[in-house]
Amino acid sequence: MTRRLVLLDPNDELRKPSEDVLVDQIGTDELNTLIDDMKETMRLENGIGLAAPQINIHQRLIVIDTGGETGVQAFINPKILSKSIRSVETEEGCLSVPGVWGMVKRRRAVKVEALDPEGNTLTINAVGLMAIVFQHEIDHLNGILFIDKVTEYTKHPKM
Ligand code: ZN
Repeated sequence: MTRRLVLLDPNDELRKPSEDVLVDQIGTDELNTLIDDMKETMRLENGIGLAAPQINIHQRLIVIDTGGETGVQAFINPKILSKSIRSVETEEGCLSVPGVWGMVKRRRAVKVEALDPEGNTLTINAVGLMAIVFQHEIDHLNGILFIDKVTEYTKHPKM
């Protein structure tokens, strides 16, 4: 497993929308190595989520580790199918925006469809932290950073 370099804001590469992973790529050594490298990079950086564009790969692939019993999981081509009406505002940070924290309002629950690394379709009813991480990471795939949505900074180098 290789630690990949995490791009830091501001960087135009973080703003490019990512493309779907092709079905033909699923199960290949190349994609599995990328997934392993993303998990390793997230672990070494103490992150709870990482999206492929953060390591300059513009494909719709994310890894999440919210510390639950499911462990570290990879999600390919994640799509939000539905969102709760209720929102929550929580403090977020990002490996691509070090030293900055702020409050972001997101949906409390989201239903996500994705493929696992074996190509099986998953439907995840995410609530709480898992729901927030999904929304944060899927934003990365669309070139959106949490700082675009911050209502109030809680930690910023200029504070
Ligand atoms: Zn992030």
